[in-house]
Amino acid sequence: MSQPLFKKVAFIGLGLIGSSLARVIVAEQLAAQIVASTRSKKTLEDAKALGLIQHGYATPEEAVQDADLIVLALPVRATQKVLEQIKPYLADNAIITDVGSTKGNVVEAAKAVFGENLPIGFVPGHPIAGAEHTGVHAGKVDLFVNHKVILTPLPTSADWAVEKLIQLWSAAKAEVICMDVTKHDEVLAHTSHLPHLMAFNLVEQLANREDNLDIFRYAAGGFRDFSRIAASDPQMWHDIFFANKTAILNAVDGFEQQLSVLKKLIAQEDSQALMGLLGHAQAARQHFNHMLAKKPLMEKNKVTQQFTILPGKKTFTGKFTVPGDKSVSHRSIMFGAIAEGTTHVTGFLEGEDALATLQAFRDMGVSIEGPKNGEVTIHGVGMQGLKAPASALYMGNSGTSMRLLSGMLSAQKFDSVMTGDASLSKRPMERIAKPLREMGALIQTTGEKGTPPVSITGSQALKGIQYDLPMASAQVKSGILLAGLWAAGETSVTEPEPTRDHTERMLRAFGYDVKTEGNKISLIGGGKLVGTDIQVPSDISSAAFFMVGAAITEGADVILEAVGINPTRTGVIEILKQMGADLTVENERIAGGEPIADIHIKGSRTLKGIHMPEDQVPLAIDEFPALFIAAACAEGQTVLTGAAELRVKESDRIQVMADGLKIMGIDCTPTEDGIIIEGKGKSGDWSAIFTGGEIESHHDHRIAMSFSMAGLRTSGNITIHGTETVATSFPTFTELANTAGLDLQVMNP
Ligand code: NAP
Repeated sequence: MSQPLFKKVAFIGLGLIGSSLARVIVAEQLAAQIVASTRSKKTLEDAKALGLIQHGYATPEEAVQDADLIVLALPVRATQKVLEQIKPYLADNAIITDVGSTKGNVVEAAKAVFGENLPIGFVPGHPIAGAEHTGVHAGKVDLFVNHKVILTPLPTSADWAVEKLIQLWSAAKAEVICMDVTKHDEVLAHTSHLPHLMAFNLVEQLANREDNLDIFRYAAGGFRDFSRIAASDPQMWHDIFFANKTAILNAVDGFEQQLSVLKKLIAQEDSQALMGLLGHAQAARQHFNHMLAKKPLMEKNKVTQQFTILPGKKTFTGKFTVPGDKSVSHRSIMFGAIAEGTTHVTGFLEGEDALATLQAFRDMGVSIEGPKNGEVTIHGVGMQGLKAPASALYMGNSGTSMRLLSGMLSAQKFDSVMTGDASLSKRPMERIAKPLREMGALIQTTGEKGTPPVSITGSQALKGIQYDLPMASAQVKSGILLAGLWAAGETSVTEPEPTRDHTERMLRAFGYDVKTEGNKISLIGGGKLVGTDIQVPSDISSAAFFMVGAAITEGADVILEAVGINPTRTGVIEILKQMGADLTVENERIAGGEPIADIHIKGSRTLKGIHMPEDQVPLAIDEFPALFIAAACAEGQTVLTGAAELRVKESDRIQVMADGLKIMGIDCTPTEDGIIIEGKGKSGDWSAIFTGGEIESHHDHRIAMSFSMAGLRTSGNITIHGTETVATSFPTFTELANTAGLDLQVMNP
């Protein structure tokens, strides 16, 4: 058997926390021997009976002899006395740690005993896990599973000691974080100590009322949830409030200030500001949940959500409304925020990306109501009204938000930083930073390769430029034009090929004069936007999966309603038509400055391979993964060129698609700026094209949804890994796809 992590572990104190850790050490066989010392003999006897320790000692000094790990799992106020007692008996290089809820006072206690030269094995710690009950019987082996444990190594702490403690807590299936002592006490004052203080306070306030019985009898669930933690051990909280006095009093000050703001808004019946505050808090709660929940999904080697699509003869029919256009949703918030007056948005895409934009503007002081069933009301603050955000703006997975906001933030009076998730953090940002610098912006891409975080120094006077875009990019064009709103004189962008013009259209809808002459778009800074109503059209990029699904399935008949058919986005329609798809655009109309229509597509003939027209490439850039599936089902070869941009999207879409197609039996060759796909279709033959297989989506939603559609023509199961991101852009995808006739099952980790 391999050596256990420790020879002898000595617990001083063996209540809820100590005995839970002892249970882990026993279960995982991490120590040859476990001993303890507690105040009462009874605890030691019980611990022996429970099989947690081999020996119990009346005094700590007896327990620690020859121990290579000592865990102080007792009230923090007892720390100094215990350290004084054990000091003469400590083995060389013994690791000494604790589990106390405050850290500054534990370090002070250690310094009072050892002086500044603390033992190198001394590494304070704090598991952020607990329960209302205490004592040796309350301990649980899984108390720390999926909880955080904060270690606060000191300058004197040895790396090997920290490393061994990380191993110990990892065995308890906890997530270990290292943090500075002061930071720990500040963070915990806000996130744990203040909420406990408030819970005790509220229960006390109500208990002191004469009608207290009625109040508690009729208490609603909210009160029970909120006051649950007031059932915790009073002695422990008494100790914590004193031990972390300064940080807690600061947190209480902040609470009182915020409470007085809320009081004032209610007293003055300031409806807009109150809705703004409550909406901001609600969104922040959801946003943080999301950020925290999402993190592990992006980590390597983690089990993630997967789709499984089963083979079998399929139909694909129905009338569907796919979610709102993401590009338009983003812009409706951005422009509504800097407009004068109120903007109402309907059909807003409540996906994570657009919500990240929404949150960013709330963080910059804009009062926004909703989204509720796709409706959002934005109370614009005008061109000069944005306020400095309290911390970095988190853009999640949204490249659009980061590039467009780079332009807007470069023109503000305040400094700002934008961060993103693992995938966004790899995407190039220099392409927008460079032209903005030419306008006078102080902007840095602080990631390794010109990647996020993006850091902007405010108060720069921007001047208009004439910029020739080196590559077609609607995001870069928009970022420059948005900076141009605040710049002196004219800002113009000339694009090599036309790209999406949602920014230009929507600026005009907000009353801003934007000129388009050929490939040159220009505006003059210093104007203003006026709030308006925006109807967000259904997203053609989302509709594209269903268009392809219908085009490759025999007898399919699908209508996609009110889809945005902005001419800069309709490449997918044009390409599918050129491939021979039976597709008609019906009921064309205009909504909120954008053209929309119903798209009717049938599976009536076999598609044919084509050389995709290069002039359509920028107009279909997001739809290529879906079009590659269509190409695999077509008769003959399909060649794509001039699409290098695809390699720097959420994933390298050329490579990732090629890998997946090959796994499913399709002969294809990725090239520098495109792909060659040998279609397996035969005229009039609707049999299976794909063999099935395991596909890695690299957390790219469009890859996942494209391969899902391959399930309409597969002979074997298709399993797609890393599909969580689908919910971001197309929350109803699986539901609609199954309604239409795909046999898609979702497996959550
Ligand atoms: P607990 O269940 O009450 O256990 C405390 C243990 O310490 C008992 O074994 C007790 O001995 C012993 N003890 C108490 N006073 C002592 C003294 N003066 N000298 C020697 N031993 C003494 O408490 P716990 O919940 O495990 O808390 C222990 C530590 O964990 C505290 O510092 C607390 O801040 C921290 N913590 C608690 C939670 C939580 O939710 N409870 C969460 C995170 C961290 P007897 O058994 O003989 O009484």
